[in-house]
Amino acid sequence: MKYIFVTGGVVSSLGKGLAAASIGTLLEHRGLTTLMQKFDPYLNVDPGTMSPFQHGEVYVLDDGAETDLDLGHYERFTSGVLSRMNNLTSGQVFDSVIKKERRGEFLGKTVQFIPHVTDEIKLRMHQVTESNPNTDVLITEIGGTVGDMEGLLFIEALRQFALEVGKENVCFIHVTLLPYIKAAGEVKTKPTQQSVAKLRELGIQPDIIICRTEADLDEDNRKKIAMFCNVERKNVVAFRDVDHSIYECPLDLRRDKIDRLVVDKLGLGHTPSPALEDWERFVQRVIHPKHKVTIAVAGKYIELQDAYKSIYESLIHAGAHHDTKVHIVRVEAEAIEDRDAKSVIGDVDGILVPGGFGDRGTEGKILAAKYARENKIPYFGICLGMQIATIEFARNVCGLKGANSTEFDKVTKHPVICLQEEQKGVEDMGATMRLGSCESILFTGTKAADLYGNVDRIHERHRHRYEFNSDYQDRLQDSGLVISSVSAVEGLVEIIELPEHPFYVGAQFHPEFQSKPNHAHPLFAGFVAAALEHSQK
Ligand code: GLN
Repeated sequence: MKYIFVTGGVVSSLGKGLAAASIGTLLEHRGLTTLMQKFDPYLNVDPGTMSPFQHGEVYVLDDGAETDLDLGHYERFTSGVLSRMNNLTSGQVFDSVIKKERRGEFLGKTVQFIPHVTDEIKLRMHQVTESNPNTDVLITEIGGTVGDMEGLLFIEALRQFALEVGKENVCFIHVTLLPYIKAAGEVKTKPTQQSVAKLRELGIQPDIIICRTEADLDEDNRKKIAMFCNVERKNVVAFRDVDHSIYECPLDLRRDKIDRLVVDKLGLGHTPSPALEDWERFVQRVIHPKHKVTIAVAGKYIELQDAYKSIYESLIHAGAHHDTKVHIVRVEAEAIEDRDAKSVIGDVDGILVPGGFGDRGTEGKILAAKYARENKIPYFGICLGMQIATIEFARNVCGLKGANSTEFDKVTKHPVICLQEEQKGVEDMGATMRLGSCESILFTGTKAADLYGNVDRIHERHRHRYEFNSDYQDRLQDSGLVISSVSAVEGLVEIIELPEHPFYVGAQFHPEFQSKPNHAHPLFAGFVAAALEHSQK
């Protein structure tokens, strides 16, 4: 197996994850089998317990791992399906080392950062290598910025690992920033030089330097960076601000032939140039769509760019599928409580209520769902959004006054959403929700079944604690709610819909984790199609 390690310098939020994912795209289009993973130096075992304000979205894998949102980019930019092995944190590393120490596995030795902690990181690299024997290239992104205290052990482990597997099998890529100083009218290379110097102090000489730049990278600067950073000039690659869409990133990196540089370094130079026509066509549909719809996303972390990342991406995929630009209006759900849904949300073609936790803004979301139901505006509820639709229907159609989820009202008279028995004694908050992929049965004759192409089983990813309360199933169904899918094993309600409405669908799972650029998720595609119809009325 060949290895690519992607580090970052100067500042965070450089698009290092997108750069890594784009390299994955290009290599895959050269016919190579790639696998992507991320090392996160923070001490949390996983991001599952972190606030979206800290971390953005928590991305969930098939196996139920709660991971960094970059894994979402990896799964969208490549065809690999990732597992919990592909997101390693310092929390996991230390947890494992300390457990081994308690079991006496270090045979009386003093347990030290080097070699014991670095060995643990390398062990993970070897485990991933062994469990993916058909992978040609393993791409590992290291979170944070070179020079961060908490990242040092990861960098050291990778330095050792490269020596052990042979330098010819490893390509180090460093992503840095070239700031443009407006007053001087100049692009500056010094931060890049210094951050590469920092990396070299740690024993790593990058093979390729990716320079994030607003403008272009001129030949003088390329030459300067090459000389000061000890790399060949062609290995200084520009990564420009893309105009419209993150899906342009692989095409931008291709301009400086990054994939060629990588395969040459790794001795895979015989692979053909990437066939990117499909990707380019997708990008064209994103950039130059024929139609436009406006969709309101009514949530709680709306001011945060990254909190609903996969949902926004899924809307882009579904939009491209219908040659449609999806204009997103971000609605702070709490604001609806003080005013009213119509004046806050306004004239839109669809309303989406995403997942969430805690009761802030829930009444606003319920008002948004009511507004959508009564005015026949397409509604898509995801996880909490499905629970919200259930509560709204129970209260306002079924006449169950005060109906609620026990998450928001412990003593509600009508707990239409409640905890499952096995969740009741749970004390640890980390990794104890209903997590990961589960098989569900689709009922024929429903809109959901139609959208999924009338398959009888689906597999979707979950991340929630509360469930549709089966004690209320009959009453809600008698009032017209349709249950279109239940989980195959426990019979838990997975999808609800309203038949007398152009599109009113709630999913207990997270379809946004399985949407891809050229394969829009069927529920998102159906939602955008309904929004398009609404816009043309
Ligand atoms: N808070 C709800 C639950 O735990 C919904 C979770 C979510 O939207 N991801 O069930």
